[in-house]
Amino acid sequence: PYTGPSADEILSKRKEYLSPSMFYFYTKPLNIVDGKMQYLFDDKGRRYLDAFGGIATVCCGHCHPDVVEAIVNQTKRLQHSTVLYLNHAIADFAEALANKLPSNLKVVFFTNSGTEANELAMMIARLYTGCHDIISLRNAYHGNAAATMGATAQSNWKFNVLQSGVHHALNPDPYRGVFGSDGEKYAKDVQDLIQFGTSGNVAGFISEAIQGVGGIIELAPGYLPAVYSTIKKAGGLCIADEVQAGFARTGSHFWGFENHGVVPDIVTMAKGIGNGIPLGAVVTTPEIAEVLTRRSYFNTFGGNPVCTSGGLAVLKVIEKEKLQENAFVVGTYLKERLTALKNKYDLIGDVRGRGLMLGVELVTDQKLKTPAKLETIHVMDQMKELGVLVGKGGFYGNVFRITPPLCFTKEDADFLVDAMDYTMEKM
Ligand code: PMP
Repeated sequence: PYTGPSADEILSKRKEYLSPSMFYFYTKPLNIVDGKMQYLFDDKGRRYLDAFGGIATVCCGHCHPDVVEAIVNQTKRLQHSTVLYLNHAIADFAEALANKLPSNLKVVFFTNSGTEANELAMMIARLYTGCHDIISLRNAYHGNAAATMGATAQSNWKFNVLQSGVHHALNPDPYRGVFGSDGEKYAKDVQDLIQFGTSGNVAGFISEAIQGVGGIIELAPGYLPAVYSTIKKAGGLCIADEVQAGFARTGSHFWGFENHGVVPDIVTMAKGIGNGIPLGAVVTTPEIAEVLTRRSYFNTFGGNPVCTSGGLAVLKVIEKEKLQENAFVVGTYLKERLTALKNKYDLIGDVRGRGLMLGVELVTDQKLKTPAKLETIHVMDQMKELGVLVGKGGFYGNVFRITPPLCFTKEDADFLVDAMDYTMEKM
């Protein structure tokens, strides 16, 4: 049993010693002390079904034994920077990762986070093209450092500091966007941005295939192929941010962009890549990667042996346990059940997503799509009381983000939907 400090003690230390900007889920935040696969346990030993941790950290499941073993074994043997000496862990994982990507995407740079990966990707695009302008989508989240905060396009994540050279295109959002599901109409806006807002040439375009922080928004069909072709014509590179949608999560494909039939020039990843350890990566072609030889480029812990051993174990687990297939089967089932719930409650405006990356948007008026912010917090709190943890997101904070570890079962899906149903019925 847990004998450490109570939730209140941690909270008061947090208030005194940690950043006042830190926020937490739930009116009364949970003190989580253990994790096992799709479950989390609080300080009283109570078990919760974790339907959100898949994106925040774990792809294979909390403390997956194979990943833990790989990390522990490597920690006992050596942990160091991998840049100055040789070690097999970084090379083995780079090879395995490159083998998961299409085309000539086979040069890997490791980082410690998603922000760092996107910072590097944007710099590479700028160096390769000699241009500064980058296009990203409104409602996007790509990180919180200088370049990536510029690419991020939600006011609540943007501080008033210099963020240069990013143009934000209309979001091809099938639910709230002006052109509905017509991807090509939104794509025209990118052409306009280039024509009227730049010299005619750009460094590149960055987007997710399904916006995560933005509230599980699947880009309208036909959008990415049209935009990629527009960007290529303007001399730019296309960057796919797979920090959330990558690593088998969408079920039908290993990478989110594959759902749109496009091949990016640069792919960035983080979060699930290491099942919870700090790791990120940028993958590109040998020709594009060459730009980094113009100066020295160094990242002390990017690709260190402990993290890359963990990363390799993750890829093996995804394969061995057929987690992509599971994401497809369980995700399809879960989406069907959530859609049935949408037909039962006016509170649910939209159910969307793919595989185990699903969103449920709550509105108080189906026609006006008025965000049901308070109801979202209430349902989330009540579901926690019933033992189910879901995430929350979207610009208005009214979208449940359902992104569990990929070992989620049909029984787990039933439990989640039953808990949501029970809560909504009582409202
Ligand atoms: N890209 C996307 C799509 C993300 O969701 C996030 C994190 N929410 C990031 C980049 C930044 O990753 P990190 O927090 O590891 O810097």
